[in-house]
Amino acid sequence: MNKVRTRIAPSPTGDPHVGTAYIALFNRCFAHQHGGEFVLRIEDTDQQRSTDKSEQDILSSLKWLGLTWDEGPGCEGDFGPYRQSERSDIYSDHIQQLLENGSAFRCFCTPERLDELRAQQMQDKSQPGYDGHCLSLSQSECENKCAADEPHVIRMKIPGSGECEFEDMLRGGVSIAWSQIDMQVLIKSDGMPTYHFANVVDDHLMEISHVIRGEEWINSTPKHILLYQHFGWEAPAFCHMPLLRNPDKSKLSKRKNPTSIRYYEAMGYLPEALLNYLGMMGWTMPSGEEKFSLSEMEASFDISRVSLGGPIFDIEKLDWLNGKYIREELTDEEFTKRFAAWAFAPEKVAQIVPLLKQRVERFSDVASLGGFFIDGSLEISEASFAHKTIDSAQSAKILQFTLWKLEALEQLDRDAVEVELHALAAKFELKIRDFLFPLFVALSGKAVSTSVIESILILGIDIARARIRQAILVLGGISKKQAKALEKEFCNF
Ligand code: GLU
Repeated sequence: MNKVRTRIAPSPTGDPHVGTAYIALFNRCFAHQHGGEFVLRIEDTDQQRSTDKSEQDILSSLKWLGLTWDEGPGCEGDFGPYRQSERSDIYSDHIQQLLENGSAFRCFCTPERLDELRAQQMQDKSQPGYDGHCLSLSQSECENKCAADEPHVIRMKIPGSGECEFEDMLRGGVSIAWSQIDMQVLIKSDGMPTYHFANVVDDHLMEISHVIRGEEWINSTPKHILLYQHFGWEAPAFCHMPLLRNPDKSKLSKRKNPTSIRYYEAMGYLPEALLNYLGMMGWTMPSGEEKFSLSEMEASFDISRVSLGGPIFDIEKLDWLNGKYIREELTDEEFTKRFAAWAFAPEKVAQIVPLLKQRVERFSDVASLGGFFIDGSLEISEASFAHKTIDSAQSAKILQFTLWKLEALEQLDRDAVEVELHALAAKFELKIRDFLFPLFVALSGKAVSTSVIESILILGIDIARARIRQAILVLGGISKKQAKALEKEFCNF
């Protein structure tokens, strides 16, 4: 076997997801167990959604978990750059090859034509996808349109019939009919490559031998395999890992469970326990032992033992394991050191102190006023929300609308939060003090506390989100039906 090289290729478009860490862990174990390398590549071709902040968060969260990479940003190897936005020339050269050998074509269809086509296909209940309209353009028609700078994309050709067959390391033979595969856009009208194109070019040039990724990509694999063929390259081995699930078996999503690694860090989980827990997702040690370290997992790893039944990410089980680590792995001295480093992180303390200083008379007042900054979930009940004019239903609604607003914010900064909260208060026709009341209680457990905006900024969006969600539950929750009605109202609010 050639040298084993695996990779993860996160897109920096959101929170550092526990699913990314799970896939990274299995890639790293597989590579290291075979004496190979584990690469990290940033897939930031979606320029509108990619942010530096998200990239930094992903990198620092993986490092926090101990999931370091052998090559990638900050650890340059022979196959860089490891950020797709720095590889544009490579993609331009490569698309040229496909245009020349006739396996890709320019498509000048306007967005209006594509919309009509889609609408027609929906009406006919036929397979959605591009109809090949521009395949019939002659060479000179194409050249004239290019000379006139007509906007266009470049698409890949797909066989008209038959099946794409490939081996998945966990599933064995997979076959998908070509009729289900769209003539994928490879280069967008702004000249940027799509995920599919950049991903294949990079996996080849970075000599990735095994593509181990989430099963949501399995239906894209025919396009990737075809691209390898179009280039005349050998395809890597493919392995599609089962997706993490909520205890109710639905796909893990932040609407039901916190999914950001930052949340688990902020809640005071030990990174080694969380990593161990991710290792239990679909995998068991040959010995059956549930508590194991990264190096133990790497030493005993065997990808064929991964089970395809959707692994459940269950916070109660994680709590149990984390507690076991705290008791069995930390001496009292280590506990003290690590707890202090977590609770009194200098950047956090620096934000909290000015808020508390104005309000306390003695140090002994600090814990009761500021304890909520390090608490996990708060002791609240419906009675905590008792207010002279706002009843429980309205409190729940205020909290839900605030949650949606916060989730939609791209940057959680003071001005943005302030503008949103004031705008919401006005829409509710409430004085800002009354409007903020349920938020005070949800975030701090108390009716009077430090400023809501400061609290959100210090707690961070992950903890703030979890607390607001917990408060809505305490207030009786919002049923699916109510949520639908509220969502409609929120959109027109
Ligand atoms: N950029 C893709 C993602 O965000 C990578 C998928 C793959 O591993 O091919 O998940």
